[in-house]
Formats: sequence, structure tokens, C-alpha cells
Amino acid sequence: MKPIKKIPKNFTTNIAGFVLLLLVVLVLFSIIASESFEKVDQISLNRLAYEINDENVESLTVIGPNIEVVFEDEEKAIVKKEPDIAVFESLENWGAERDNLRKIDIDFEEEPDWSFLVTLLIISLPLLFLLFIFRSIFKQTKGGAMQALDFSKAKARVFGDEGSPKSGVTFDDVAGLEEAKEELKEVVDFLKEPSRFLKLGARIPKGVLLTGAPGTGKTLMARAVAGEANVPFFEISGSEFIELFVGVGSGRVRDLFANAKKKQPCIIYIDELDAIGRARGAGLGGGHDEREQTLNQILSEMDGFKQDAKIVVLASTNRPDVLDSALLRPGRFDRKVILDLPDKKAREAVLKIHTIGKPLSKNVSLKEVAERTPGFSGADLSNLANEAALLTARKKEKSIKQSRFLEAIEKVLLGPERKSFVMGEKEKELAAYHEAGHAITSSFLPYAEPVRKISIVSRGQAGGYTIKIPTEESRIKRKSEFLSEIAVLLGGYTAEKIVFKEVSTGAVNDLEKASSYARKLVKEFGMSSLGPVHFKGEQEHVFLGREVGGEKNYSEETAAKIDKEVFLFIEEAVKRAEDVIQKKRKIVDKIAKKLIEKEMLEREEYEEIIGKKQEKKASDKR
Ligand code: ADP
Ligand code: MG
Ligand code: ZN
Repeated sequence: MKPIKKIPKNFTTNIAGFVLLLLVVLVLFSIIASESFEKVDQISLNRLAYEINDENVESLTVIGPNIEVVFEDEEKAIVKKEPDIAVFESLENWGAERDNLRKIDIDFEEEPDWSFLVTLLIISLPLLFLLFIFRSIFKQTKGGAMQALDFSKAKARVFGDEGSPKSGVTFDDVAGLEEAKEELKEVVDFLKEPSRFLKLGARIPKGVLLTGAPGTGKTLMARAVAGEANVPFFEISGSEFIELFVGVGSGRVRDLFANAKKKQPCIIYIDELDAIGRARGAGLGGGHDEREQTLNQILSEMDGFKQDAKIVVLASTNRPDVLDSALLRPGRFDRKVILDLPDKKAREAVLKIHTIGKPLSKNVSLKEVAERTPGFSGADLSNLANEAALLTARKKEKSIKQSRFLEAIEKVLLGPERKSFVMGEKEKELAAYHEAGHAITSSFLPYAEPVRKISIVSRGQAGGYTIKIPTEESRIKRKSEFLSEIAVLLGGYTAEKIVFKEVSTGAVNDLEKASSYARKLVKEFGMSSLGPVHFKGEQEHVFLGREVGGEKNYSEETAAKIDKEVFLFIEEAVKRAEDVIQKKRKIVDKIAKKLIEKEMLEREEYEEIIGKKQEKKASDKR
């Protein structure tokens, strides 16, 4: 890094020297000029002719438009020469004797080339100006580079070292994720007592990659490992490596590892590894060299660990699929720990952790909250607990009631209620029938999910909403479940069409979701008459990295067939929804009327209207 510091110094001295030189030249020129003109008398031509006739003149030198006269007594004078006429002739004309003139040395000298100076000025002034601008820019960038250099030293957050805070997180603060903890315990044991492992020649993983959806507790888990092992913890985020200046990212890596080596045993944690660790050469746009250099530096630092190094590199990403394969080779991040979204039990445990220190009403059942929040991540649940507390505080209640938790679920799911958004009568009617359409299809189609709540109070983006109770989230879904889901999604649209004979823009999101499901059925799940083929391409997103430019692996004819299958699925779904809505039209009207009146229907009221208790039928269960 030293050269960067030195260059500007040399540079400024260069400029200063140049300016000085120019000044000296200018001064010299002016001295010479004044010497040859000012200190010497100027005399007239006829006076010169007189002096010549008096034989007082020793020599004449013609310099440009002037004649320099040297007298016998070494005195000098200047005479203006007549233009366009020879000196000899001119003096003769003024009465100098020809014989006398012949006795005098007459010399001709080149006029000093002043145009040279002018040229010099013309060239050097803009040059100087440019240099000046360049220098001030350089000064600024130099400041920037210095800043970046400082950053490279200080950016990692350090825990557990002398003088820095302890991580303070242990495995007890992480709910669920038992398998992940089990995996990481080995790392903890190693960091606690490295010699035990090293004596046996055991090779401990240098790199452990934590993967999982956003908010599943990757960062939390890494800190917990540090807390458990009670060793220094250097945390830096992948995006922090990337700065404007080339070479800084890799410089940071070097500093980070150098610091860590001094503090062994310790943990280096690189959050959001995918920001730098993306497959090289993939993706679009610039900025890749920097990332590549940074990545290469990480790889070479990890390769450079000695056999007895007591550093473990943890990293996390929610996009393991885009990582460069070089990162996943043995001796690098060769161990993968997957953090799943929490299941029902784990959700309850997360909620328990995040309600510690919050006063809960007696009726609160975190179990029920957990049941109603499939798909929520740990971060969502932590957010949920906080929202419930905020709602309680706003209502000036002493302890958090169950109903506040349920309210908070909707808030986290859909964004805040927009009560201020007042719907007109017509709009309200439209929204009511739309939601009634979703609800009725959901309640009466096989394999669909029971309705827990319907509302036409807009929330976040949604104009109205119908919340269903998904039975415990399942990893595997059957075709019939998908088909019902598509029909339910189109239930709103279909109800509008039947009741008002036209549709509104309120169904945009529904249509988008339904189409995407239908397309997946055909292209990915092999659930259409095209058979069990996985059709790839076209829909892949450009920014995902690896799949860039992924050619579609099917022909145009197949594409047309796929489209046709998708249309068939949608058509069939609309038919099923129509069927239900038309058969239950009276109930739909009742639901809509009640919704317009109350804006919100809870499960009990709703079941009263439809006249049945909703449950997943026995035949629905697998
Ligand atoms: P990630 O790094 O995976 O995106 P974080 O570790 O930053 O997620 O999690 C965000 C927050 O969510 C944590 O600070 C914690 O409060 C909460 N959280 C996530 N998972 C859990 C969990 N398993 N147990 C307890 N809290 C969790
Ligand atoms: Mg994180
Ligand atoms: Zn809808």
C-alpha cells in the first residue's frame, strides 16, 4: 500500500519544480531583455551619421529593427533602423560618408526569438492549468484511498477479545435447530480445547457454511458458537468487502486474517458470503474483478492455514446455489450446516425466547400462535412478539393478550391495517364479494384449507384478505392440493365475474399467483399431460447468477404445448370455482352482506353463516 502514499508527494514536488523553473526562465528573459534595451541610450539616425563622420563609431550590429552602436570609447547606443532599407544605404541617405562607413564593422545578428517565449507560454499555461486541476483531484482521491485503507483495518466487528464486548449469545438463545447445534458443537469443542484434536492428528473443518432462508438465525447461530467456545469472534459482512477501490476488498481479507492469526483460537465469520462468493464469470455488469480478487484472497488465506491453525471460518448465505464451486471444495467450506425454517415446536420455542421479560396475560397460548404461523422465520417471530408488545402499549394495557398476538400475526403477514383508506359503497361491495369468493371455494373444495378470518379492511398492499389455516406446513404437496389452491386463488375473480358480470383490478395478485402455480405444475412438477419432464429456462431470473443465459431446454413447439396446458389448468380451476360459487350463491350473498356490515368475520361467525364446521376431511388427510 505504500506506493499509493508516495505517488502524490512526488507528484506535487514535480509540479512545484516545474512552476519554479518556468518562473526562473521568465525572469531571466526579462533581465536579458531589459539589459539590451533599457540601459542603453537611444539616438537618432542622423545623429549616428554625424558620429560616423566624426569617426567616433567602432561597430554597428543590426539586431532586428534596431541597430546597436558601439562607440570608440566603448559606450553603447541603440538606433531605430529604417524599415525595408539596407543600413548602409539608409545611413548614406542620412549623410554618412561612404569612406567612413566602410571603416566600421557592420554585423548582422538574429533577433532574439521572442516568439519562442510566447509559444512556451501558450503551451504551458493550459498545461499548468490542467496539472493544477489534476492535482486537486488527486488530493481528494488520495483522501478517499486513505479512508478506505483505514477501513480495511477496522471494519470487522470483534467480540470476545480483550477490550471488546463478549458475544453474549449461547446455544440457549437459539431455539430449535437441534441438528445444526449438534454439528456445530464439534467446532465449539475444537475451539475450546484444540490440542486434544490436534494431538490425534484430526483435521478440523476450516470452513463451515451456514445456509438457510433469511431470518432463520444464521447470524445468531454463528455468534452463539463464539459465545459457547468463548473465543474472539471477527464478524464481517460480505457486502462490506466490496468498496469502490480496487484492491481494498482483498486488502481487508488480508488484514482480517492477519488479525485473526494473532488471536488464535478464534472464529472468523463472513456474513452474506454470496455477496463475494458468487460463481466467477457469471452474472452481468461490472464490478466483478473486485469481487473475484476478494474471493481469491479468501481462498488463498484459507489454503494458507497451517495444519495446526486454530481458526475456524464460519460463513453464511441464503443462496448456496450461486456460490462458486471453489468455495465448497475440501479444505475450504467443506462442511454445510442447514438452518431450516422452524417447525411448530421450534416456533413455540422461538416465541418463548422472545417473550422473556414481556408480561403475558394468563390466557396467552404461544402454542396456538405457533400453530397459526407456519412459514414464519425466527426473525418473523421475533418481530411478531415485538409487534404484540407494541400493540399492547398503544392500547395502554398492562399485559399482552392472546388477541394482540393474533393481530400481530396479520400485521407481520400483510402489513399494517389501512383504516384511513375509506372505500366507497361500490368498492366495498366488490371487495366483499371478492373475498367471499375466496372463502367459499376454500371451504367447499376438497383439499382446500379452512378459513380463519375474512376482512375487507385493506392492509398493506392487499385490498381485502382471507386468511386460511394451512394445516402444518408440508414439504410435499399433491397435485389435487395445488389444483384446489389455484381454484381458491381464482375464487375472488370468479365471484366478481358472476355477481357483477365484469372483473376489477383487485384480482391482479391472485391471477399472478395462480398462473405461476399452474406453470410450475406443468414445467417443474410433471403434473400435466406432458408427463414427468422438467422444463427449464426462460423464467430464470438474470440476477441469480448461475442460470444467466440458461437456454431453455425445450423447443418452441413444446413451449406452445406448455402454454396450452397452463391455460387448461386455469380454465379448469375457474370452472370449479364457478361451480361452487353458483351452487352456494345464497351463502356467498350472506357472507358479502355481513362483510359489508362488519368488515371482518372471524372463524366462528363465518362457520355459522356457511352452516358447517370446517375441518380437513378425513379423506383429505394423507
Ligand atoms: P439470518 O442471519 O439467518 O438472516 P438472523 O440470525 O439475523 O437471521 O436472525 C434475526 C433475528 O431473528 C435474530 O436476531 C433473532 O432475534 C431471531 N431469530 C432467528 N432465528 C432464531 C432462533 N432459532 N431462535 C431465536 N431467535 C431467532
Ligand atoms: Mg444474517
Ligand atoms: Zn383476491
